[in-house]
Amino acid sequence: MNNKSLYQSILNNMNFPQGNFINGEFADAHSGKKLETINPATEEKLCDIASSGEADVETAIANARAVFDSGIWSRCHPSERKEILVRFAALIREHQDELAVLESVDSGKPISDCLEVDVPETADCIAWHAEAQDKLYDQISPSGNDALGLIVREPIGVVGAVLPWNFPLLMAAWKIGPALATGNSVIVKPSELTSLSMLRLAELAVKAGLPKGVLNVVTGTGPNVGQILGLHPDVDAITFTGSTATGRRFLEYSAQSNMKRVVLETGGKSPCVVLEDADLDRVAKHVVLSFVSNMGQVCTANTRLIVPASCKDALLTKISDEIKAWTIGDPLDPETRLGPLVSKEHYSKVVGMIDKGVREGATKLGGEQAFEGPGYYLAPVVFDDVDNAMAIAREEIFGPVLSVITYENTEQAVEIANDSDFGLAASIFTKDLTSAHRLARRLRAGTVSVNSYSEGDASTPFGGYKLSGFGGKDNGVQAHDQYTEQKTIWVDLSE
Ligand code: NAD
Repeated sequence: MNNKSLYQSILNNMNFPQGNFINGEFADAHSGKKLETINPATEEKLCDIASSGEADVETAIANARAVFDSGIWSRCHPSERKEILVRFAALIREHQDELAVLESVDSGKPISDCLEVDVPETADCIAWHAEAQDKLYDQISPSGNDALGLIVREPIGVVGAVLPWNFPLLMAAWKIGPALATGNSVIVKPSELTSLSMLRLAELAVKAGLPKGVLNVVTGTGPNVGQILGLHPDVDAITFTGSTATGRRFLEYSAQSNMKRVVLETGGKSPCVVLEDADLDRVAKHVVLSFVSNMGQVCTANTRLIVPASCKDALLTKISDEIKAWTIGDPLDPETRLGPLVSKEHYSKVVGMIDKGVREGATKLGGEQAFEGPGYYLAPVVFDDVDNAMAIAREEIFGPVLSVITYENTEQAVEIANDSDFGLAASIFTKDLTSAHRLARRLRAGTVSVNSYSEGDASTPFGGYKLSGFGGKDNGVQAHDQYTEQKTIWVDLSE
């Protein structure tokens, strides 16, 4: 059996998760309503998920609160939490093929990405936070001999995690890794387009020993589930990844309800600044990786290529050659590097933006229809002659579309790079380390990568400037701040 047949047979025998996962059990929505989940590669229905509403969110919150107050997880010894979460990470690795197939058919992601990136990094992320949390010390203030000022961290309580569809497993791990490690109860609201892998993940967490009710999953639409979590007085924090427009709503929900903590990881329109001395082969490889991987549905994608006029043509030729290495096809085929976009609606939005680019006067290169048959497939498009004021340079397209903008001098390059409503990530390509360091400080972005596309790992904080983020960071020990309260305990020692 070759690998493609193996993954197809895993799919054929798949028991799809059924219903919400609340208090350690699967259950249909109170209303009995369901939503169809579609495979974007075939446009066929995979299964139904629960279309939840207020009653389901209330049940999940009540369970999460009760288990939090019981202290079984929130006050257990850090080493016990570590043991269970490390086992959870090991179970994810054990179930990697099943999780990868589920992720691939639900989102359209190539199976090779799921196996090499999404599933292992999900396990690594959970294990990293599990291992980190029992090595963090609280503090004692310099309060003199007559007092003892302790500064301690405590879990914040019930956390709502509202997730996007582009990295369903990994974005879940970025939230639940630190939130669970720090002792919180969590209710995850995955995207209605890609809920399946999160449901399976929650089941594995309980199998690993996580007390029931600590991790719950409620599926359904944004207004019916996300909004209720956002407005609920018994949710202590919302951690959100998704579009800037929805992120803004969570700030409003918080203001209208209990001023719950809100942390937002939102959209991007990241620049890639190429200096004259850059290695153009390296640039081409990283630029293509950046704007086409995951079909361009990546928040950090370097979608604005800012390049000296003198080397633009040479670079465009190399980019065009590099794109040819990205085979488009069936996501369950391990040879495939590009699958379909996530949904018909999203496909239409991306095609609409490509049409807009042509109307705005940019020169479209590539983008011929790449794949016959069903599925929301789209070949990568490069726009030359782009002005940074055009919509294709200002708005997040979230598809495999690159805008190429030329500059005359480095000052102008910095100006163009920073002239954006977003500030999630940026890349700089140069052989001169001094220029790289100087430029990295001037770019207004949460992550600046030198001679590579957006880099970082579980240990490095991730988040955006400007409209790309708010209130905190994912990853690193810095992520623990989102999920903990800081308390002062003052002990009077005077005689
Ligand atoms: P989205 O904002 O449409 O949806 C995100 C989540 O919010 C979903 O679960 C959705 O159901 C929910 N939601 C939608 N409307 C809501 C409402 N009115 N009230 C409450 N919840 C609501 O985003 P998306 O299309 O799923 O994801 C793509 C976006 O995510 C892109 O903008 C991308 O840049 C961003 N993203 C950012 C990062 C980051 O770390 N900065 C990472 C991945 C994706």
